[in-house]
Amino acid sequence: MKTPRPSVSVVGLGYVGLCTAVTFAKKGFSTLGIDIDSARVEQVAKGRAPIHEPHLEPLLARAVGKGRLRVGTDPAAAAESDVIFVTVGTPSRPDGSIDTTYVRAAAREIGMALRNQEDYRVVVVKSTVVPGTTRSLVKPLLEETSGKKLGLELGLCMNPEFLKEGTAIEDALHPDKLVLGAMDPRAGRHLRQLYERFYRPRMPPVVQTTPETAEMIKYASNAFLATKISYINTIANIAQQVPRVDVEQVAQAIGLDPRIGPLFLKAGPGYGGSCFPKDVKALIAFARGLGYEPALLKAADEVNEQQADRVVELSERLCGSLKDKRVAVLGLAFKKDTDDIREAAALRVIRRLRNKGAHVAAYDPMAMPAARRVLGDGVDFADNPENALASADCAIIMTEWDQFREMPPEVYARTMRSPNIVDARRLYPPEALDGVNLAAIGLGERVRGRGAPAKRPAARAVTR
Ligand code: NAD
Repeated sequence: MKTPRPSVSVVGLGYVGLCTAVTFAKKGFSTLGIDIDSARVEQVAKGRAPIHEPHLEPLLARAVGKGRLRVGTDPAAAAESDVIFVTVGTPSRPDGSIDTTYVRAAAREIGMALRNQEDYRVVVVKSTVVPGTTRSLVKPLLEETSGKKLGLELGLCMNPEFLKEGTAIEDALHPDKLVLGAMDPRAGRHLRQLYERFYRPRMPPVVQTTPETAEMIKYASNAFLATKISYINTIANIAQQVPRVDVEQVAQAIGLDPRIGPLFLKAGPGYGGSCFPKDVKALIAFARGLGYEPALLKAADEVNEQQADRVVELSERLCGSLKDKRVAVLGLAFKKDTDDIREAAALRVIRRLRNKGAHVAAYDPMAMPAARRVLGDGVDFADNPENALASADCAIIMTEWDQFREMPPEVYARTMRSPNIVDARRLYPPEALDGVNLAAIGLGERVRGRGAPAKRPAARAVTR
């Protein structure tokens, strides 16, 4: 006889939680989503996504419509589910270490919810937490509040999430791996079986490990990718000082070496988003707590912070002093296809532009409401790219939105006071912008005549 599909609860309906809940519901699992933010829950209950993420809203509407996904604010309801995922945020403290306030609260609430539950339940930490957190923080809280002993009536696993904003649904449905860090074998078996039901017949490779190693894998992964970006940005910062050198071609060539690989070699304004900056800082703080100074990670973080200065320097190269200049910033989201502006490079650049006395006009197809809340009145928010560019002395491309990629280059020359463009994303092949003054990350001065680089097709942009 076929065993019924396990039911699932997801505690924390942010980026990770919502995408997790929606994909479980899509695969036919009875899913319950819980969040403390009642406005968010109300919106999700209507099938409307509180974040912009491709494919999310239709899947959410269908899951809610079919009754496969229910949502609420009461953590006690999680007790009815066989497996309870913890997907609450783990933000940075001022010293860079992770703030586990939400994880602790969620563990307590789930423990209390399970107090009178007699059936075996598995709690799965999906939030990114430093090594040791699941064992030394979540386990005792769960045991204390539930009155249950881990291993017998209750299971606990660490199962880091690797989805990327912008392709989160696709990533959740087709991950390149599953990392399962079980506190005890029974919990590990349950979680594995859950995923076998989810992915059948295409179960991704599974790395079964201790919870501590699972926690470390997540940080090692994000810190590596962040370092790769800071590495190519370092090369870009050198390259742009040298006539006829173009970091795009450097990246294309070195990426052909299988030891290096082509991904994450896109020079730009620095990484952002809710994960890389916070996770690199958390790993640095964690290492320091162990008495080790992680010089490489500190450098990756520092290069990233300073990359905004490099973007502003490029604007100054084209315009001279920025005082009282009008600068159009195209793109606010930390990357395309999301409205997330957390730690977005555009915010760092805008703050520096304003410190230099520039007037900033900004446009983003998705992230304007979020940016308005953070940047306030100091920025003119335009309804479209043309209005942002109108009478501008300089335009800075900060997000690789297709809308900007597809915009005819003559728009710049037609609308701006002086067509000075800083391509901080390397969105355009330099040849496509003939007739404007171009400065781009990692692009050495273009020398006309003999020795000028041959026309080439746009290097394939490999972004996060
Ligand atoms: P988020 O800040 O977008 O969402 C967290 C949600 O948890 C919020 O909606 C909040 O209201 C809710 N919450 C907080 N405390 C709660 C509680 N006690 N009960 C119920 N809900 C509660 O966070 P996110 O971006 O989804 O990230 C969640 C975790 O996953 C973090 O640890 C993050 O590092 C990790 N992660 C994020 C990504 C990403 O791309 N965003 C990718 C992989 C891993």
